[in-house]
Amino acid sequence: MNPSDTLLPHDAPWVVVKFGGTSVSTRPRWDNIAGIAATHLAAGKRVLIVVSALSGITDQLKAIGEAPADAARCADLRDTIVARHHALFGEMGLSRRNGVDAWMAKLDQLLADPRRNTGELAWQAEVLALGELTSSTLGAAYLNSLGLTTHWLDSRECLRAEALPNQADWGKWLSASVRVRHDPQTAAALAARGNVFIAQGFIARSGESATAVLGRGGSDTSAAYFGALLKAEAVEIWTDVPGMFSANPRQVPDARLLSRLDYAEAQEIATTGAKVLHPRCIHPVRDERVPIRIKDTNRPDLPGTEIVWNTQSSAPSVKAISSRKGITLVSMESISMWQQVGFLSDVFEVFKRHGLSVDLIGSAETNVTVSLDPSDNLLDSDVLARLCTDLEAFCRVKVIAPCAAITLVGRGMRAMLHRLSAVLAEFGALDVHLISQSSNNLNLTFVIDEAVVDSLIPRLHALLIRAEVMRIGDPEIFGPSWRELAEDAAAVHRTSWWRRERGKLLALAAESTPRYVYCLDQVREQARGLGALGTVDRWHYALKANPHPDILRSLHAEGFAFECVSWNEIAALRRVLPELPAERILFTPNFAPREEYRAALAAGVRVTLDALHPIAEWGEDFSGRDIFLRVDLGAGRGHHDKVKTGGAQSKFGVSLSEIATFRNLAREHGARIVGLHAHLGSGILDAQHWRSVYVQLASLAEQFNRIEVLDLGGGLGVPSRPEDVPLDLAALGAALEEVKQAYPQFQLWMEPGRYLVAEAGVLLAKVTQTKRKGEVHYVGIDAGMNSLIRPALYESWHEIVNLDRLDAPPEELVQIVGPICETGDVLGNNRRLPACQEGDVILVAEAGAYGAVMGSRYNMREPAAEVCL
Ligand code: ADP
Ligand code: ASP
Ligand code: MG
Repeated sequence: MNPSDTLLPHDAPWVVVKFGGTSVSTRPRWDNIAGIAATHLAAGKRVLIVVSALSGITDQLKAIGEAPADAARCADLRDTIVARHHALFGEMGLSRRNGVDAWMAKLDQLLADPRRNTGELAWQAEVLALGELTSSTLGAAYLNSLGLTTHWLDSRECLRAEALPNQADWGKWLSASVRVRHDPQTAAALAARGNVFIAQGFIARSGESATAVLGRGGSDTSAAYFGALLKAEAVEIWTDVPGMFSANPRQVPDARLLSRLDYAEAQEIATTGAKVLHPRCIHPVRDERVPIRIKDTNRPDLPGTEIVWNTQSSAPSVKAISSRKGITLVSMESISMWQQVGFLSDVFEVFKRHGLSVDLIGSAETNVTVSLDPSDNLLDSDVLARLCTDLEAFCRVKVIAPCAAITLVGRGMRAMLHRLSAVLAEFGALDVHLISQSSNNLNLTFVIDEAVVDSLIPRLHALLIRAEVMRIGDPEIFGPSWRELAEDAAAVHRTSWWRRERGKLLALAAESTPRYVYCLDQVREQARGLGALGTVDRWHYALKANPHPDILRSLHAEGFAFECVSWNEIAALRRVLPELPAERILFTPNFAPREEYRAALAAGVRVTLDALHPIAEWGEDFSGRDIFLRVDLGAGRGHHDKVKTGGAQSKFGVSLSEIATFRNLAREHGARIVGLHAHLGSGILDAQHWRSVYVQLASLAEQFNRIEVLDLGGGLGVPSRPEDVPLDLAALGAALEEVKQAYPQFQLWMEPGRYLVAEAGVLLAKVTQTKRKGEVHYVGIDAGMNSLIRPALYESWHEIVNLDRLDAPPEELVQIVGPICETGDVLGNNRRLPACQEGDVILVAEAGAYGAVMGSRYNMREPAAEVCL
């Protein structure tokens, strides 16, 4: 018998787990949900799963509700919604679609309902509810198919909407509230039915049999209602971020995870804009003292945020900065209002009559300004016009919109005001319409024009940290930053060879630093990945990336030919590989002197010309020769402006408009153009880039008579920043294959450099000194820009770790700098490292390409030496 079928003992605790839209949209996410539910069950807990609609579905259902008269649009939306659910059904590999089809039939029925004509609110609510009804039905089927016996529960059986005093009709149907307390009877009745349930977020019963919805994002609230009803051990909100952060992490990558909050603080952060938690979901659980945890569906091991009754939070600190857009301000001006009895009551009565709930208030002798929040109000222009007309009986009215409210949240806000000067100075430069300080001493809010808010928030967040009003050093409250968590995820994703070889690397560093260490196995692995793409007829290694002899030998053994950009490179290559046939060498120089071309031709090396000058001025050198032509397709690509090699701003290649002249000159001198080459830049991670280069070169080649080879250059990127997605080799292979099918007459060549060696090299250095200047910590190491110039030259980002303290938790935010007398001698900015001490070994990763080879003796310091593992 399935373990989920045996009823748990009567006193087994409940856990409510809620999954948002993105967490329920694909089969792998449902596998995560199954894993999370099964883990709780195995620990002896009953599980109630609350789900949102698949991401985007509520928006589409809402669009139907809002444009019921537009038949064509409604039909389109209906088809999209049906197709989306059928697609997930297919992806889940389920066999009987009845459940889903029944809800889709209900959608058709609602579309045919006469209430549609008037767009009745009760009808809209029924339409909206279908998202959650369908997702929970799909989920139940899938979880059962995995062997986790899961009972489908209609939330409307348990949650009853309750009209609030003065609530407008809109709120009653589309932003309803439920009042719940612990209900042992319902809990016992469910416990008698099974151990695992799945129910819909967002919906509740209204009256006897109608349906209301709880407002956008309301599934969190449903989970909280169920948590209170069952007096659960915890309510877990599983979403697409690993907790509540000190700012929206998608807007502020340096935002810190808030490890622990009390209900009041969480309420304040949620109310003032942090979408991760619906503001109405704190109240029900607080009354029953049920803790909330916020967790990441994709990274269940991370601790997340815990919201509890009481935190031992110490000194006052700003915990978060949040923002809300779409705020409307209503400014009411009247000279007679001063000390006039009942003025506020009169104007607020008007708001009440229009069902509008007021958020912030500012008042002066002759003016009262209030804000209206779109999440609590239906704020269309009709409503506002009617409001203003009625208000004009008492005062002059001005509506200011769209505005945004920026809020600083933290306990003891008033005690921190004196430290906020830098933050206030930022606001000083803007038009601030309203400032409000909450009477619970938890928040300070500024209302400004909406347009400036997005760029302002990251700046303010940084200022709060700098002024130490956001005390990120307090480990009780603040966890790692969003960026750091992303880095960790990336590190797990690509376990680097240097982690495995840590012992050997430390031993090498003990001998001497600074020092580059290369792992040839890693070079071979990259080479084999490329070699497996059958479409490319010949791979060349662009040896300028790293001409270390052992690397050249390894790649030769892997079947690679070579691409050189100077005569010295050719000579060095031939010294290392004397047996290498000259025709396996491609020479692609740029603005090189005439002798280099002559020497290469004399050696039998294939030469690529990338300008008119050589063929126009030294034409006789190329007489009777086969040459390649490097064209500039007009636009560069790459990870930094300095690595883009296309377009007029770049010195490479012959522009399309000069190709005809080049061909005439070649013909005149008896040179045969047998290959076309294009290389638009480096560090490209989008596989489709080469398809487009390939197609352009191929169609150009058809205008020539004897092109044999198309050379797409290199530029294959390696992910460096944690958020980079690695180049998809399979997609690259497929894209190339597709073009090859259309142009089988041309051979396809490519010439990557960095892709083969970047990850194979690390730079080892030792800490020389540490320093603190104001807020800024420096860690000095014995390798500087004379060993690795990429960060200074291209602002390249390299992972940097303290190899001696690899597993120690990061403690400090530091700048990692070298010993060179240049302000730009910085290898890494704002990195979180464990406290570093003189002599610690620091490893700079992904330094195998354009590292040692660009080294210099600047300051008369020797650049890092090189060694292979
Ligand atoms: P779900 O669909 O799971 O309910 P939501 O989109 O409603 O998820 O909420 C999660 C999103 O909230 C995050 O992706 C993030 O963009 C946003 N967000 C805004 N402010 C914050 C904050 N302070 N901390 C965490 N997330 C936040
Ligand atoms: N599906 C609803 C919405 O998108 C409720 C939720 O996801 O929380 O607003
Ligand atoms: Mg949400």
